[in-house]
Amino acid sequence: MASQPEHLHFLLIPLMSQSHIIPLTDFAKSLASRGPLVSMITTPKNAIRLKPLTDYATRENLKIQLIPIPFPGQQVGLPEGCENSESLPSTSFTKAFLDACSLMQESIENAAKNLDPKPSCIVSTNALLWTQNLAQNLGIPRYVFQTVSSFTLLCADRIGKVLRSGWPEDLEPVLLPDLPHKIEFRKSQLPERSSRKGSDDQWKEVQDLAAGTLVNSFEEMEGWYVEEQKKHIKNYWDIGPVSLINNIGSSGTAKNDDHHSLKWLNSMKPNSVIYACFGSLCHLSFSQLREIGLGLEASGSPFIWVIREPDYSAEVEKWLKDEKFEERVKGIVVRGWAPQVPILSHSSVGGFLTHCGWNSTLEAVCAGVPMLCWPMFNEQFFNEKFVVDVLKIGVRIGVETDTKVGEEEKALVESEQIKAAIDQIMDEGEEGEERRKTARKLSEMAINAIQEGGSSYRNITLLIQDVLQLQLATGKANEF
Ligand code: UDP
Repeated sequence: MASQPEHLHFLLIPLMSQSHIIPLTDFAKSLASRGPLVSMITTPKNAIRLKPLTDYATRENLKIQLIPIPFPGQQVGLPEGCENSESLPSTSFTKAFLDACSLMQESIENAAKNLDPKPSCIVSTNALLWTQNLAQNLGIPRYVFQTVSSFTLLCADRIGKVLRSGWPEDLEPVLLPDLPHKIEFRKSQLPERSSRKGSDDQWKEVQDLAAGTLVNSFEEMEGWYVEEQKKHIKNYWDIGPVSLINNIGSSGTAKNDDHHSLKWLNSMKPNSVIYACFGSLCHLSFSQLREIGLGLEASGSPFIWVIREPDYSAEVEKWLKDEKFEERVKGIVVRGWAPQVPILSHSSVGGFLTHCGWNSTLEAVCAGVPMLCWPMFNEQFFNEKFVVDVLKIGVRIGVETDTKVGEEEKALVESEQIKAAIDQIMDEGEEGEERRKTARKLSEMAINAIQEGGSSYRNITLLIQDVLQLQLATGKANEF
């Protein structure tokens, strides 16, 4: 009978997107450091990128294994080799991508049945509703891993209520009801899912069937919002920020320390650099990239500017070259993927120009870096409001509308606006100092939460105890 954490086997299933894979990878490290065996579902291409996880497990002597499952992308018309939402040619492929992920169910079920020891439970990210069914077929509990905050979940709930009684037609922002902070939303900022009632019901139904919900956040930061969620959702536990596990392993984050951007940061003054990066999904047009480059330059602050691969076109390269941009500015351009967590943690970084993805937001909180918020779509607008209106560690760039595919030019943010906002976030006056102080305090709270005796550490203990108890109660403990 399983009576010790070492006897448990967690099966982790992420949506094949960086914003789901990265936190679940970090959570795998946290879980395994408490004793259980952790298996993580992946695909052949994503597995190559996950080598640092298995290297980490070997170094730290942890029981973590990858289970690669073929990705059925071509069955639904995705280009060959596309196994991660990051490599979708455009957002119009998102539905096909989600369909391909759900087509993995049967192969995962077969693989899980052959695992020895058998999995004790599934932990899968919120987008994968079909994993509830998979857990039922395997006769084990499923825990939801939430990749958004409790604040976002509650705002989405309140927006649903306003929508049901009819969103006012005028263009004025609407104050969301029954929240302790003054949170206002414009219709143009609503995430797409809020307007799809049917699917919201389905989400709730699946959520109710789950054995628990794990949120990549920490109680001290979300206070009222976590308490409110706990009233309605059983076993609702904040277990983050998961990225901080990389700071406490015996080997730290040394794996990326030789990246040229980190060496360059070593030569900069403390808190002087603005780091600009828009996550793994946002597409920026050439005109917008040009405005960003000019705005960064005009600010006079040294900067690291990340241009992700699909946006880094021949047109962009020609502009950079013709303008001799990199020769004349005080910053550097990273083409493709930057080691974001080590960059944010570097003492030279003083501000983060971000699209407000939840992982990026949390990573900035952990590093104590104030944010310049430029939300583009989905829950990024919630995160902007959380950072600016609740946590008070950020300023807005001033975007009021989500960026629709093909309408990027309409939403163009000009270089003057970008420069003015950078000046504000890098401000060395009283207001800027206040934000930096609050950010540093939150960072300390985040670090305490994940350490032994901290709130997130305790919540992981509760999760482990819950799985042990469920195994004993159902009498399905495995022979080990
Ligand atoms: N990220 C990174 N390097 C990059 C771009 C992104 O390491 O050049 C990581 C970032 O640290 C975060 C994740 O990718 O962990 C992006 O997730 P987020 O939720 O912020 O945004 P999304 O990609 O979903 O828009």
